[in-house]
Amino acid sequence: MPYPDTFYSRTAIKHPDFPVLSATIETDVCIVGAGLAGLSCALELLNKGKSVVLLESQKVAWGASGRNGGFVSSGFSGGQDIVENRLGLEAAREVFGLSLEGVEMVRGNISNLNLEETNPSPGMLSVIRYNDPEGMKRYCEKMADRYDHQLDFLSQDDVQTYFKTNRYFQGNLDKKAFHFHPLNYCLGLSKDIIAKGGYIFENSEAIHMELDASIKEVCTPKGLVKAKDIVFCGGGYAGSAFSKVRQSFLPISTYVVVTEKLGERVHDLIKTKAAILDDRMASDYYRIVDSDRLLWGGRITTRKSEPKRLSQLLKQDMIDVYPELRNAKIEMAWSGLMAYARHKMPYIGAVKPGVWSCTAFGGHGMNTAPIGGRLISEAITGQSDRYKLFKAFDFQWNGGFVGPIAAQSMYLGMKAVDWWRESRSKSC
Ligand SMILES: Cc1cc2nc3c(=O)[nH]c(=O)nc-3n(C[C@H](O)[C@H](O)[C@H](O)COP(=O)(O)OP(=O)(O)OC[C@H]3O[C@@H](n4cnc5c(N)ncnc54)[C@H](O)[C@@H]3O)c2cc1C
Repeated sequence: MPYPDTFYSRTAIKHPDFPVLSATIETDVCIVGAGLAGLSCALELLNKGKSVVLLESQKVAWGASGRNGGFVSSGFSGGQDIVENRLGLEAAREVFGLSLEGVEMVRGNISNLNLEETNPSPGMLSVIRYNDPEGMKRYCEKMADRYDHQLDFLSQDDVQTYFKTNRYFQGNLDKKAFHFHPLNYCLGLSKDIIAKGGYIFENSEAIHMELDASIKEVCTPKGLVKAKDIVFCGGGYAGSAFSKVRQSFLPISTYVVVTEKLGERVHDLIKTKAAILDDRMASDYYRIVDSDRLLWGGRITTRKSEPKRLSQLLKQDMIDVYPELRNAKIEMAWSGLMAYARHKMPYIGAVKPGVWSCTAFGGHGMNTAPIGGRLISEAITGQSDRYKLFKAFDFQWNGGFVGPIAAQSMYLGMKAVDWWRESRSKSC
């Protein structure tokens, strides 16, 4: 399938089409899924001297990795409280450190591989839509004291210098975060994988796997890979071929739109080049791209099909914050699937001897998928067992057909909490 029509596919760098696997091939490691997790893992393994075959059912970064918001920041989808409650402070600090290492991996690759077309831009501003200066200060202090992570507190006055909207109260600025063109990053990695002797096969879905012998087999419609290790990186688009992992997460949809070129209008409303997100359950997240377009993302649902009114839905969210944009045209709109475990943390670890999982990065994969890939590469090469930090976040059944209903109800419940907090701030 070709890339969906997105801002990223319209501005993608020149890239080759990779062949379809149509033979039997032997390798040290077979990676299933060429999103950011698979590509990062492949590159790390090649750098450690392993031979690698990467199988992709569509095209490189055709899934979430090539169509997301492009925010690269520390942390995990579950948030630090979930990690701390489950692991205790000391291990939670290590896990947070890994999330930062993921950010630095991406930054490092951009500079070492000269990936200028990723257009990295520094900073992420997080804002709250209800009045809680003390809560925001406490959060910034906690991140500094417990995790040694600097977030600059922004008072309501500070926030108003950045945005022309009455929707936001306090916030914080994360200077270590950045935003970029995720598809061009993945395409850049794929070039380096080939340059280092790796193989990538597109339109080559893994449809069946034999995983019990010491040499494992992965069948595609026209070929076969024999490998000592298999890494599953199928994300939210994974089919049934990898059943244990697939039954342990839910695919969750989220949406993005991009406006027409807005000229000075957008800079009058948003006076920062940083990426912006609010605190809602399914936050609004946005950033200025192509000098003066607004890329706006938000909403989550367990419904996999794209709503007909996707553009209007997100435009409504956008003009709720910036009514001045009511006449702005939406030029591109798309959806994407993320893989979420019930505990909202990734599955980074062993499924059985020689079979690895590196998936379920939820809505926070731009840093966590790269570090996941590195940890699995270290495990395969015997360099470290850092992946064991994620042992407490083991496979949990996704609830079968009830899972999506439960997840959707939980989302609606959290939306109700958002509404309640925001309406209290409005009436104060
Ligand atoms: C709209 C959207 C916005 C987001 N915004 C952000 C953001 O701003 N910042 C952030 O950190 N995260 C964000 N995320 C989340 C982030 O994109 C994901 O967590 C991350 O890309 C997951 O990477 P992945 O490699 O695990 O999965 P994917 O990128 O989905 O890649 C999996 C690949 O595996 C392939 N595949 C599946 N099954 C098979 C098979 N059997 N055989 C062969 N290939 C297979 C798929 O075709 C796909 O290409 C967003 C996600 C979406 C959808």
